[in-house]
Amino acid sequence: MIPYGRQDVSEADIEAVVSVLRSDFLTQGPVVPRFEQAVAQRCGAAHAVAVSNATAALHLACLALDLGPGDLCWTSPVTFVASANCARYCGAEVDFVDIDPVTRNIGIGALEAKLEAAARASRLPKVLVAVHLCGDPCDMEAIHALSKRHGVAVIEDASHAIGALHRGEPVGSCRYSDITVFSFHPVKIITSAEGGMALTQRADLARRMARLRSHGITREAAEMEHPDAGPWAYEQLELGFNYRMTELQAALGLSQLQRLQPFLDARHRLAARYDEALADLPLTLPWRDPRDRSALHLYVVRVRPEAPVDRAALFARLRERGIGANVHYIPVHTQPYYRRLGFAVGDFPQAERYHAEALSLPLFAAMTDAQQTTVIDALRGALAA
Ligand SMILES: *Cc1c(COP(=O)(O)O)cnc(C)c1O
Repeated sequence: MIPYGRQDVSEADIEAVVSVLRSDFLTQGPVVPRFEQAVAQRCGAAHAVAVSNATAALHLACLALDLGPGDLCWTSPVTFVASANCARYCGAEVDFVDIDPVTRNIGIGALEAKLEAAARASRLPKVLVAVHLCGDPCDMEAIHALSKRHGVAVIEDASHAIGALHRGEPVGSCRYSDITVFSFHPVKIITSAEGGMALTQRADLARRMARLRSHGITREAAEMEHPDAGPWAYEQLELGFNYRMTELQAALGLSQLQRLQPFLDARHRLAARYDEALADLPLTLPWRDPRDRSALHLYVVRVRPEAPVDRAALFARLRERGIGANVHYIPVHTQPYYRRLGFAVGDFPQAERYHAEALSLPLFAAMTDAQQTTVIDALRGALAA
């Protein structure tokens, strides 16, 4: 099966992990801070907090922004469930803003209208989770301006977007947000097996996330309520978690970070070949903002109504030929858990229309030309007039 995405692990990556296994620390050692500094530096953020996965990073980001019971968090319905679940972990309510059918990210007009209605009803969200779907950055200037006008905190779920440029600046700089989250799951741009990171320009948010990552415990005298208890003293100041990243994960992540640019270049080369080879088929090919540089986590086509087969049939045809096409994503509000919270099919029509036609084609840095030819030929066989 040609998967829709997979990791590319080199001998150097393996060597980096093995050397940690031979070292003094498997966790809480020197490699996690090195990985944090390297990512922060590459993205132009002041602080980075590495955690066990991006879901944990989103959870800590919401907690650091004081999201809690009675509060509201908004996100896109077209995302992985974790972008919404993080607010539920905090006891907050979730709502969604429908997508723009071209960018597939949160619609700026929809966001503006919904914020104005919420302001009139005195029911503004405390946090907005903006998702850079497929690695294509959201219009962050517009989101930032709206969030400032209404006093809403912004988290960028950049699980798809490490290495992306937004108007020439790296995603992760947090220029237009409070916190940006990356995922290092094996299907993402770079991997640490499991792993995630939260970046921010604000020292207070970074300190809070670092503390919550490790049980809510501090060892800094300045933070303690009883700093004179002894040189062994630590204090649990609030209820935290064990969301730590291991040294093995950080070593893999740090080694993979050195390969980020070649990975991105490979994804762009493959996407350009899809753009050209599929241009005459009844597919809507993914739009990319010429002012940005996508990280191209996903290459999602939409099967047009005039196509001889629909999305489901095309999906089956590809799978029969050993091609692991996929669908990203089933709109979050239609999941049984969210329906039980009151959402229904029909609530976010652009998201649902997108989902009915969307198909993710295989795209990963180590994909060979021969594998891509197999995908292109299968699509042409199913769709060419
Ligand atoms: C992968 C993903 C996550 C969760 O990442 P994990 O590291 O697996 O927890 C969150 N949001 C989006 C948009 C994702 O694609």
